[in-house]
Amino acid sequence: MSFSQLGLSDKVLAAVAATGYTTPTPIQEQAIPHVLARRDVLGIAQTGTGKTAAFVLPMLTMLEKGRARARMPRTLILEPTRELAAQVKENFDKYGAGQKLNVALIIGGVSFGDQDTKLTRGVDVLIATPGRLLDHTERGGLLLTGVELLVIDEADRMLDMGFIPDIERICKMIPFTRQTLFFTATMPPEIRRITETFLHNPEKVEVSKPATTAVGVAQFQVSVSREPHEKRETLRRLLRDATDLQNAIIFCNRKREVALLYKSLQKHGFSVGALHGDMDQSARTAALDQFRKGELPLLVASDVAARGLDIPITSHVFNFDVPHHADDYVHRIGRTGRAGRAGTAITIVSPLDFKSMAAIEKLIGQAIPKVEGIEAGEPPEAAEAPARDEEPVRKPRRRNGNREANFGAPREGSGEGRKPRRERGPRRSGGAEGSRGSPPHVQTQQPEAPFTPPAAPAPSQTPSIGRAQAPRAPRDTASEPADHSHLPAFLLRPVRARV
Ligand code: AMP
Repeated sequence: MSFSQLGLSDKVLAAVAATGYTTPTPIQEQAIPHVLARRDVLGIAQTGTGKTAAFVLPMLTMLEKGRARARMPRTLILEPTRELAAQVKENFDKYGAGQKLNVALIIGGVSFGDQDTKLTRGVDVLIATPGRLLDHTERGGLLLTGVELLVIDEADRMLDMGFIPDIERICKMIPFTRQTLFFTATMPPEIRRITETFLHNPEKVEVSKPATTAVGVAQFQVSVSREPHEKRETLRRLLRDATDLQNAIIFCNRKREVALLYKSLQKHGFSVGALHGDMDQSARTAALDQFRKGELPLLVASDVAARGLDIPITSHVFNFDVPHHADDYVHRIGRTGRAGRAGTAITIVSPLDFKSMAAIEKLIGQAIPKVEGIEAGEPPEAAEAPARDEEPVRKPRRRNGNREANFGAPREGSGEGRKPRRERGPRRSGGAEGSRGSPPHVQTQQPEAPFTPPAAPAPSQTPSIGRAQAPRAPRDTASEPADHSHLPAFLLRPVRARV
Protein backbone atom coordinates (compact mmCIF):
# COMPACT_ATOMS: atom_id res chain seq x y z
CA MET A 1 0.00 0.00 0.00
CA SER A 2 1.22 3.51 -0.76
CA PHE A 3 0.28 6.83 0.85
CA SER A 4 -1.57 7.88 -2.32
CA GLN A 5 -4.17 5.16 -1.71
CA LEU A 6 -5.21 6.53 1.67
CA GLY A 7 -7.26 9.53 0.50
CA LEU A 8 -4.83 12.22 1.66
CA SER A 9 -4.71 15.56 -0.19
CA ASP A 10 -2.06 16.32 -2.80
CA LYS A 11 -0.40 18.88 -0.53
CA VAL A 12 -0.10 16.37 2.26
CA LEU A 13 1.16 13.67 -0.10
CA ALA A 14 3.83 16.08 -1.34
CA ALA A 15 4.88 16.81 2.23
CA VAL A 16 5.09 13.10 3.02
CA ALA A 17 7.14 12.48 -0.13
CA ALA A 18 9.50 15.29 0.94
CA THR A 19 10.22 13.46 4.20
CA GLY A 20 11.22 10.37 2.22
CA TYR A 21 8.54 8.07 3.67
CA THR A 22 7.25 5.79 0.94
CA THR A 23 5.09 3.29 2.77
CA PRO A 24 2.53 3.95 5.48
CA THR A 25 3.08 2.13 8.74
CA PRO A 26 0.33 -0.33 9.77
CA ILE A 27 -1.34 2.17 12.10
CA GLN A 28 -1.30 4.80 9.35
CA GLU A 29 -2.64 2.38 6.79
CA GLN A 30 -5.48 1.32 9.04
CA ALA A 31 -6.38 4.57 10.78
CA ILE A 32 -6.07 7.27 8.10
CA PRO A 33 -9.04 6.18 5.92
CA HIS A 34 -11.32 6.05 9.00
CA VAL A 35 -10.19 9.48 10.17
CA LEU A 36 -10.86 10.93 6.73
CA ALA A 37 -14.30 9.27 6.78
CA ARG A 38 -14.98 11.22 9.99
CA ARG A 39 -15.23 8.11 12.13
CA ASP A 40 -14.14 7.96 15.76
CA VAL A 41 -11.00 5.86 16.08
CA LEU A 42 -9.65 3.87 18.99
CA GLY A 43 -6.00 3.27 18.19
CA ILE A 44 -4.08 0.82 20.33
CA ALA A 45 -0.52 1.55 19.45
CA GLN A 46 2.74 2.36 21.12
CA THR A 47 5.01 5.22 20.25
CA GLY A 48 7.43 4.33 17.51
CA THR A 49 4.65 2.90 15.35
CA GLY A 50 4.10 6.12 13.39
CA LYS A 51 0.89 6.91 15.23
CA THR A 52 1.50 10.67 15.30
CA ALA A 53 1.39 10.89 11.51
CA ALA A 54 -1.67 8.61 11.60
CA PHE A 55 -3.65 11.55 12.98
CA VAL A 56 -1.59 14.54 11.81
CA LEU A 57 -1.75 13.66 8.08
CA PRO A 58 -5.54 13.27 7.82
CA MET A 59 -6.05 16.31 10.06
CA LEU A 60 -3.95 18.39 7.68
CA THR A 61 -6.04 17.13 4.76
CA MET A 62 -9.29 17.97 6.54
CA LEU A 63 -8.11 21.39 7.70
CA GLU A 64 -7.36 22.61 4.18
CA LYS A 65 -10.94 23.84 4.03
CA GLY A 66 -12.29 26.33 6.55
CA ARG A 67 -10.90 29.07 8.77
CA ALA A 68 -10.21 29.49 12.44
CA ARG A 69 -12.12 31.94 14.62
CA ALA A 70 -10.69 33.91 17.52
CA ARG A 71 -10.42 31.90 20.74
CA MET A 72 -12.27 28.97 19.13
CA PRO A 73 -9.82 26.32 17.94
CA ARG A 74 -11.02 23.96 15.21
CA THR A 75 -9.16 20.93 16.45
CA LEU A 76 -7.63 19.96 19.78
CA ILE A 77 -4.89 17.44 20.56
CA LEU A 78 -4.31 16.51 24.20
CA GLU A 79 -0.90 15.20 25.21
CA PRO A 80 0.26 14.11 28.69
CA THR A 81 3.61 15.91 28.61
CA ARG A 82 5.08 19.08 27.21
CA GLU A 83 7.68 17.12 25.28
CA LEU A 84 5.09 15.03 23.51
CA ALA A 85 3.05 18.13 22.75
CA ALA A 86 6.15 19.78 21.27
CA GLN A 87 6.82 16.71 19.15
CA VAL A 88 3.32 16.74 17.72
CA LYS A 89 3.80 20.42 16.88
CA GLU A 90 7.00 19.47 15.04
CA ASN A 91 4.97 16.99 13.00
CA PHE A 92 2.56 19.76 11.97
CA ASP A 93 5.51 21.97 11.08
CA LYS A 94 7.04 19.16 9.01
CA TYR A 95 4.00 17.90 7.14
CA GLY A 96 2.06 21.16 7.09
CA ALA A 97 4.84 23.38 5.74
CA GLY A 98 2.87 24.07 2.54
CA GLN A 99 -0.28 25.12 4.39
CA LYS A 100 -1.04 28.34 6.19
CA LEU A 101 -2.33 26.80 9.37
CA ASN A 102 -2.20 28.35 12.80
CA VAL A 103 -0.88 25.77 15.21
CA ALA A 104 -0.66 26.70 18.90
CA LEU A 105 1.09 24.90 21.70
CA ILE A 106 -0.58 25.40 25.08
CA ILE A 107 1.71 23.84 27.67
CA GLY A 108 2.82 24.69 31.17
CA GLY A 109 6.14 26.32 31.95
CA VAL A 110 5.98 28.97 29.23
CA SER A 111 4.43 32.44 29.12
CA PHE A 112 0.65 32.48 29.58
CA GLY A 113 0.33 35.88 27.89
CA ASP A 114 1.97 34.79 24.63
CA GLN A 115 -0.33 31.80 24.48
CA ASP A 116 -3.34 34.00 25.05
CA THR A 117 -2.31 36.32 22.21
CA LYS A 118 -2.00 33.35 19.90
CA LEU A 119 -5.44 32.06 20.84
CA THR A 120 -6.95 35.51 20.13
CA ARG A 121 -5.68 35.33 16.56
CA GLY A 122 -7.55 32.07 15.90
CA VAL A 123 -6.10 28.59 15.91
CA ASP A 124 -6.61 25.69 13.51
CA VAL A 125 -4.78 23.16 15.66
CA LEU A 126 -4.43 23.47 19.39
CA ILE A 127 -1.96 21.06 20.99
CA ALA A 128 -2.19 21.13 24.76
CA THR A 129 -1.43 19.50 28.05
CA PRO A 130 -4.64 19.24 30.14
CA GLY A 131 -3.69 21.48 33.08
CA ARG A 132 -2.68 24.53 31.08
CA LEU A 133 -5.63 24.09 28.73
CA LEU A 134 -8.03 24.23 31.68
CA ASP A 135 -6.26 27.34 33.00
CA HIS A 136 -7.10 29.07 29.73
CA THR A 137 -10.71 27.91 29.63
CA GLU A 138 -11.25 28.92 33.25
CA ARG A 139 -9.95 32.41 32.56
CA GLY A 140 -12.34 32.71 29.66
CA GLY A 141 -9.63 33.03 27.05
CA LEU A 142 -10.54 29.84 25.26
CA LEU A 143 -13.80 28.31 24.05
CA LEU A 144 -13.92 24.66 23.05
CA THR A 145 -17.36 24.81 21.44
CA GLY A 146 -15.87 25.10 17.94
CA VAL A 147 -13.73 21.96 18.20
CA GLU A 148 -14.66 19.57 15.39
CA LEU A 149 -11.98 16.99 16.04
CA LEU A 150 -10.44 15.93 19.34
CA VAL A 151 -7.35 13.75 19.67
CA ILE A 152 -6.55 12.16 23.02
CA ASP A 153 -3.05 10.78 22.70
CA GLU A 154 -1.17 8.47 25.10
CA ALA A 155 -4.32 8.00 27.15
CA ASP A 156 -2.82 5.36 29.43
CA ARG A 157 -0.04 7.77 30.24
CA MET A 158 -2.67 10.38 31.11
CA LEU A 159 -4.13 7.83 33.50
CA ASP A 160 -0.74 7.22 35.15
CA MET A 161 -0.27 10.94 35.59
CA GLY A 162 -3.71 11.49 37.13
CA PHE A 163 -5.12 13.48 34.20
CA ILE A 164 -8.26 11.46 33.62
CA PRO A 165 -10.58 13.83 35.59
CA ASP A 166 -9.18 16.74 33.53
CA ILE A 167 -9.76 14.81 30.32
CA GLU A 168 -13.35 14.14 31.32
CA ARG A 169 -13.90 17.83 32.05
CA ILE A 170 -12.41 18.83 28.72
CA CYS A 171 -14.44 16.26 26.78
CA LYS A 172 -17.62 17.67 28.29
CA MET A 173 -16.75 21.16 27.02
CA ILE A 174 -16.57 19.97 23.42
CA PRO A 175 -19.74 19.44 21.34
CA PHE A 176 -21.09 15.93 21.24
CA THR A 177 -20.95 16.01 17.44
CA ARG A 178 -17.18 16.16 17.34
CA GLN A 179 -14.98 13.42 15.93
CA THR A 180 -12.72 11.77 18.52
CA LEU A 181 -9.43 9.95 17.93
CA PHE A 182 -8.17 8.11 20.96
CA PHE A 183 -4.71 6.53 21.22
CA THR A 184 -3.41 4.34 23.99
CA ALA A 185 -0.74 1.66 24.30
CA THR A 186 -2.72 -0.40 26.81
CA MET A 187 -6.36 -0.77 27.82
CA PRO A 188 -6.67 -0.81 31.61
CA PRO A 189 -10.28 -0.75 32.91
CA GLU A 190 -10.31 3.00 33.55
CA ILE A 191 -9.26 3.69 29.95
CA ARG A 192 -11.91 1.29 28.65
CA ARG A 193 -14.52 3.20 30.66
CA ILE A 194 -13.40 6.51 29.13
CA THR A 195 -13.54 5.12 25.60
CA GLU A 196 -17.03 3.81 26.24
CA THR A 197 -18.15 7.20 27.54
CA PHE A 198 -16.55 9.51 25.01
CA LEU A 199 -16.18 7.61 21.74
CA HIS A 200 -19.11 6.95 19.43
CA ASN A 201 -19.06 3.62 17.69
CA PRO A 202 -15.29 3.81 17.15
CA GLU A 203 -13.25 1.92 14.60
CA LYS A 204 -10.74 -0.07 16.60
CA VAL A 205 -7.25 -0.21 15.17
CA GLU A 206 -4.64 -2.27 16.96
CA VAL A 207 -1.16 -2.58 15.58
CA SER A 208 0.90 -4.49 18.06
CA LYS A 209 0.62 -6.27 21.33
CA PRO A 210 0.83 -3.66 24.06
CA ALA A 211 3.38 -5.44 26.19
CA THR A 212 6.08 -6.73 23.91
CA THR A 213 9.70 -5.73 24.22
CA ALA A 214 11.89 -5.23 21.15
CA VAL A 215 13.66 -8.37 20.04
CA GLY A 216 17.03 -6.69 19.57
CA VAL A 217 17.29 -5.54 23.17
CA ALA A 218 19.56 -7.56 25.46
CA GLN A 219 18.05 -7.35 28.93
CA PHE A 220 19.78 -7.95 32.24
CA GLN A 221 19.16 -7.35 35.89
CA VAL A 222 21.90 -6.62 38.39
CA SER A 223 21.34 -7.38 42.05
CA VAL A 224 22.30 -4.88 44.73
CA SER A 225 21.52 -4.48 48.42
CA ARG A 226 19.10 -1.83 49.69
CA GLU A 227 21.86 0.72 50.19
CA PRO A 228 21.42 3.77 47.91
CA HIS A 229 25.21 4.25 47.62
CA GLU A 230 25.50 0.71 46.32
CA LYS A 231 22.99 1.38 43.58
CA ARG A 232 24.86 4.47 42.50
CA GLU A 233 28.20 2.71 42.62
CA THR A 234 26.85 -0.18 40.59
CA LEU A 235 25.49 2.22 38.02
CA ARG A 236 28.81 4.00 37.71
CA ARG A 237 30.59 0.71 37.21
CA LEU A 238 28.14 -0.29 34.53
CA LEU A 239 28.57 3.01 32.77
CA ARG A 240 32.32 2.92 32.95
CA ASP A 241 32.74 -0.68 31.95
CA ALA A 242 30.41 -0.62 28.97
CA THR A 243 32.45 -1.20 25.85
CA ASP A 244 29.89 -0.02 23.35
CA LEU A 245 27.94 2.57 25.24
CA GLN A 246 27.08 5.41 22.87
CA ASN A 247 24.44 7.08 24.97
CA ALA A 248 22.08 6.04 27.70
CA ILE A 249 18.92 7.03 29.45
CA ILE A 250 18.95 6.26 33.16
CA PHE A 251 15.47 6.00 34.58
CA CYS A 252 14.45 6.80 38.14
CA ASN A 253 10.97 6.52 39.60
CA ARG A 254 10.82 9.89 41.30
CA LYS A 255 11.75 13.42 40.35
CA ARG A 256 13.73 13.76 43.56
CA GLU A 257 15.76 10.69 42.70
CA VAL A 258 16.44 12.09 39.24
CA ALA A 259 17.85 15.25 40.81
CA LEU A 260 19.97 13.34 43.34
CA LEU A 261 21.39 10.91 40.83
CA TYR A 262 22.06 13.68 38.35
CA LYS A 263 24.07 15.58 40.97
CA SER A 264 25.89 12.44 42.04
CA LEU A 265 26.89 11.53 38.47
CA GLN A 266 27.98 15.08 37.81
CA LYS A 267 30.15 15.01 40.92
CA HIS A 268 31.73 11.87 39.60
CA GLY A 269 32.58 13.66 36.39
CA PHE A 270 30.02 12.19 34.00
CA SER A 271 28.61 14.33 31.20
CA VAL A 272 25.00 14.03 32.13
CA GLY A 273 21.69 15.84 31.71
CA ALA A 274 18.45 15.50 33.62
CA LEU A 275 14.83 15.42 32.56
CA HIS A 276 11.83 15.45 34.85
CA GLY A 277 8.50 17.15 35.18
CA ASP A 278 9.49 19.82 37.69
CA MET A 279 12.15 21.38 35.51
CA ASP A 280 11.14 24.49 33.62
CA GLN A 281 10.45 24.06 29.96
CA SER A 282 13.63 25.68 28.67
CA ALA A 283 15.80 23.44 30.87
CA ARG A 284 13.94 20.35 29.69
CA THR A 285 14.22 21.31 26.04
CA ALA A 286 17.90 22.15 26.44
CA ALA A 287 18.68 18.82 28.13
CA LEU A 288 16.78 16.88 25.51
CA ASP A 289 18.46 18.76 22.65
CA GLN A 290 21.91 18.16 24.08
CA PHE A 291 21.13 14.49 24.47
CA ARG A 292 19.75 14.24 20.94
CA LYS A 293 22.85 15.92 19.52
CA GLY A 294 25.14 13.67 21.53
CA GLU A 295 26.58 16.56 23.55
CA LEU A 296 25.37 14.93 26.74
CA PRO A 297 25.66 11.17 26.32
CA LEU A 298 23.80 10.40 29.53
CA LEU A 299 20.33 11.51 30.54
CA VAL A 300 18.82 10.81 33.94
CA ALA A 301 15.08 10.87 33.51
CA SER A 302 11.76 10.17 35.10
CA ASP A 303 9.08 8.34 33.14
CA VAL A 304 8.12 11.60 31.45
CA ALA A 305 10.92 10.75 29.04
CA ALA A 306 9.95 7.13 28.63
CA ARG A 307 7.09 7.58 26.29
CA GLY A 308 6.82 9.21 22.99
CA LEU A 309 10.02 11.14 22.79
CA ASP A 310 11.64 10.61 19.45
CA ILE A 311 15.24 9.95 20.40
CA PRO A 312 16.62 8.13 17.39
CA ILE A 313 19.37 5.92 18.78
CA THR A 314 19.93 5.06 22.40
CA SER A 315 22.44 2.27 22.88
CA HIS A 316 21.60 1.62 26.54
CA VAL A 317 18.78 2.04 28.99
CA PHE A 318 19.44 1.70 32.69
CA ASN A 319 16.68 1.32 35.21
CA PHE A 320 18.24 2.83 38.29
CA ASP A 321 14.88 2.17 39.93
CA VAL A 322 12.67 -0.72 38.95
CA PRO A 323 9.44 0.85 37.68
CA HIS A 324 6.37 0.27 39.85
CA HIS A 325 4.21 -0.36 36.80
CA ALA A 326 5.34 -3.19 34.58
CA ASP A 327 4.09 -1.27 31.53
CA ASP A 328 6.63 1.43 32.23
CA TYR A 329 9.41 -1.12 31.91
CA VAL A 330 8.31 -1.85 28.36
CA HIS A 331 8.14 1.83 27.54
CA ARG A 332 11.48 2.58 29.13
CA ILE A 333 13.39 -0.10 27.33
CA GLY A 334 11.59 0.88 24.14
CA ARG A 335 14.04 3.79 24.06
CA THR A 336 16.76 1.40 22.91
CA GLY A 337 16.85 -1.22 20.19
CA ARG A 338 14.75 1.01 17.95
CA ALA A 339 14.45 0.55 14.21
CA GLY A 340 15.97 -2.92 14.35
CA ARG A 341 19.16 -1.78 16.10
CA ALA A 342 20.69 -3.71 18.95
CA GLY A 343 20.33 -2.23 22.40
CA THR A 344 21.03 -3.10 26.00
CA ALA A 345 18.70 -2.61 28.95
CA ILE A 346 20.04 -3.15 32.45
CA THR A 347 17.90 -2.96 35.55
CA ILE A 348 19.37 -2.48 39.01
CA VAL A 349 17.37 -4.56 41.44
CA SER A 350 17.37 -4.45 45.22
CA PRO A 351 15.50 -6.90 47.45
CA LEU A 352 12.67 -4.35 47.69
CA ASP A 353 12.06 -4.71 43.96
CA PHE A 354 11.50 -8.45 43.69
CA LYS A 355 7.73 -8.11 43.40
CA SER A 356 7.95 -5.48 40.69
CA MET A 357 10.49 -7.56 38.78
CA ALA A 358 8.22 -10.59 38.94
CA ALA A 359 5.38 -8.49 37.51
CA ILE A 360 7.63 -7.26 34.71
CA GLU A 361 8.81 -10.74 33.80
CA LYS A 362 5.22 -11.92 33.79
CA LEU A 363 4.17 -9.07 31.53
CA ILE A 364 6.94 -9.50 28.99
CA GLY A 365 6.69 -13.27 29.19
CA GLN A 366 10.36 -13.89 29.74
CA ALA A 367 12.88 -14.11 32.53
CA ILE A 368 15.46 -11.36 32.61
CA PRO A 369 18.94 -12.83 33.13
CA LYS A 370 20.40 -12.03 36.54
CA VAL A 371 23.93 -11.05 37.38
CA GLU A 372 25.27 -10.03 40.75
CA GLY A 373 26.10 -6.41 41.43
CA ILE A 374 28.54 -5.46 44.09
CA GLU A 375 29.77 -8.09 46.42
CA ALA A 376 27.68 -8.29 49.54
CA GLY A 377 29.48 -6.95 52.55
CA GLU A 378 31.71 -4.64 50.57
CA PRO A 379 32.34 -1.49 52.60
CA PRO A 380 30.60 1.71 51.52
CA GLU A 381 32.17 2.99 48.33
CA ALA A 382 34.76 5.50 49.38
CA ALA A 383 34.71 7.35 46.09
CA GLU A 384 30.99 7.94 46.31
CA ALA A 385 30.32 11.64 46.44
CA PRO A 386 26.86 11.80 47.92
CA ALA A 387 24.44 14.52 47.08
CA ARG A 388 24.18 17.20 49.74
CA ASP A 389 21.40 15.65 51.75
CA GLU A 390 22.96 12.23 51.88
CA GLU A 391 25.50 10.65 54.12
CA PRO A 392 28.80 12.41 53.41
CA VAL A 393 31.00 9.34 53.09
CA ARG A 394 34.10 10.43 51.26
CA LYS A 395 37.79 9.79 51.20
CA PRO A 396 39.44 12.82 49.65
CA ARG A 397 42.46 10.92 48.37
CA ARG A 398 40.24 9.11 45.92
CA ARG A 399 39.27 12.36 44.35
CA ASN A 400 42.84 12.92 43.24
CA GLY A 401 42.98 9.63 41.43
CA ASN A 402 43.32 8.96 37.76
CA ARG A 403 40.58 10.86 35.97
CA GLU A 404 40.48 8.69 32.90
CA ALA A 405 37.06 7.21 32.32
CA ASN A 406 34.07 7.02 30.08
CA PHE A 407 32.24 10.31 29.50
CA GLY A 408 34.91 12.22 31.35
CA ALA A 409 34.10 10.49 34.59
CA PRO A 410 36.91 9.85 37.04
CA ARG A 411 37.83 6.33 37.76
CA GLU A 412 36.85 4.86 41.07
CA GLY A 413 39.39 2.90 43.03
CA SER A 414 42.08 4.31 40.79
CA GLY A 415 45.65 5.05 41.80
CA GLU A 416 48.80 3.10 42.52
CA GLY A 417 48.74 -0.61 42.56
CA ARG A 418 45.75 -1.07 40.33
CA LYS A 419 45.34 -4.28 38.52
CA PRO A 420 46.17 -4.21 34.83
CA ARG A 421 43.39 -3.90 32.32
CA ARG A 422 41.43 -7.02 31.86
CA GLU A 423 41.04 -8.55 28.43
CA ARG A 424 37.98 -7.35 26.64
CA GLY A 425 36.69 -5.92 23.39
CA PRO A 426 38.64 -3.44 21.31
CA ARG A 427 39.08 -0.01 22.75
CA ARG A 428 37.45 2.78 20.87
CA SER A 429 39.94 5.40 19.94
CA GLY A 430 40.12 9.12 19.39
CA GLY A 431 38.56 12.09 21.09
CA ALA A 432 39.74 14.17 23.98
CA GLU A 433 39.05 12.23 27.08
CA GLY A 434 36.00 13.31 28.86
CA SER A 435 35.37 16.35 26.73
CA ARG A 436 31.79 17.11 25.84
CA GLY A 437 30.79 15.97 22.43
CA SER A 438 33.82 13.77 22.00
CA PRO A 439 33.09 10.16 21.26
CA PRO A 440 32.93 8.13 24.42
CA HIS A 441 35.57 5.49 24.80
CA VAL A 442 36.20 2.59 27.05
CA GLN A 443 38.61 3.06 29.82
CA THR A 444 41.98 1.48 30.00
CA GLN A 445 41.92 0.03 33.46
CA GLN A 446 39.62 -1.85 35.69
CA PRO A 447 38.96 -1.20 39.31
CA GLU A 448 39.82 -3.97 41.64
CA ALA A 449 37.70 -6.91 40.68
CA PRO A 450 34.90 -7.17 43.23
CA PHE A 451 33.92 -10.66 42.23
CA THR A 452 35.42 -13.99 42.97
CA PRO A 453 34.46 -16.94 40.84
CA PRO A 454 32.09 -19.24 42.64
CA ALA A 455 33.37 -22.69 43.44
CA ALA A 456 31.12 -25.02 41.48
CA PRO A 457 27.81 -23.83 42.92
CA ALA A 458 25.32 -26.30 44.20
CA PRO A 459 22.18 -26.55 42.07
CA SER A 460 20.24 -24.65 44.72
CA GLN A 461 22.60 -21.72 44.27
CA THR A 462 21.87 -21.33 40.62
CA PRO A 463 18.33 -20.09 40.21
CA SER A 464 16.73 -21.18 36.99
CA ILE A 465 16.49 -17.68 35.61
CA GLY A 466 19.58 -15.83 34.87
CA ARG A 467 22.65 -17.56 35.96
CA ALA A 468 22.66 -20.14 33.24
CA GLN A 469 21.99 -17.48 30.65
CA ALA A 470 23.90 -14.72 32.37
CA PRO A 471 27.16 -13.50 30.91
CA ARG A 472 30.08 -15.72 31.79
CA ALA A 473 33.59 -15.13 32.93
CA PRO A 474 35.98 -13.91 30.25
CA ARG A 475 37.87 -17.20 30.11
CA ASP A 476 34.67 -18.92 29.06
CA THR A 477 34.00 -16.41 26.37
CA ALA A 478 37.19 -17.39 24.56
CA SER A 479 35.67 -20.70 23.64
CA GLU A 480 32.19 -19.30 23.41
CA PRO A 481 31.05 -18.19 19.97
CA ALA A 482 28.36 -15.89 21.42
CA ASP A 483 29.09 -12.22 21.04
CA HIS A 484 28.97 -10.43 24.39
CA SER A 485 30.63 -7.30 23.12
CA HIS A 486 27.51 -5.28 23.90
CA LEU A 487 27.94 -6.01 27.59
CA PRO A 488 29.91 -4.04 30.10
CA ALA A 489 32.99 -5.94 31.26
CA PHE A 490 31.44 -5.72 34.71
CA LEU A 491 28.77 -8.12 33.60
CA LEU A 492 31.26 -10.46 32.02
CA ARG A 493 32.87 -11.30 35.30
CA PRO A 494 31.98 -14.44 37.13
CA VAL A 495 29.04 -14.09 39.42
CA ARG A 496 29.15 -14.86 43.07
CA ALA A 497 26.50 -17.17 44.32
CA ARG A 498 24.53 -16.04 47.32
CA VAL A 499 25.02 -18.23 50.35
P1 AMP B 1 5.63 7.98 16.31
O1 AMP B 1 5.13 6.60 16.61
O2 AMP B 1 4.59 8.88 15.79
O3 AMP B 1 6.39 8.57 17.46
O4 AMP B 1 6.69 7.84 15.09
C1 AMP B 1 7.91 7.19 15.25
C2 AMP B 1 8.90 7.54 14.16
O5 AMP B 1 8.51 6.99 12.90
C3 AMP B 1 9.08 9.03 13.92
O6 AMP B 1 10.45 9.30 13.86
C4 AMP B 1 8.45 9.27 12.56
O7 AMP B 1 9.06 10.34 11.90
C5 AMP B 1 8.66 7.95 11.86
N1 AMP B 1 7.65 7.65 10.83
C6 AMP B 1 6.34 7.98 10.85
N2 AMP B 1 5.72 7.50 9.76
C7 AMP B 1 6.63 6.83 9.04
C8 AMP B 1 6.59 6.10 7.80
N3 AMP B 1 5.47 5.95 7.11
N4 AMP B 1 7.73 5.53 7.36
C9 AMP B 1 8.87 5.66 8.08
N5 AMP B 1 8.97 6.33 9.25
C10 AMP B 1 7.87 6.92 9.73
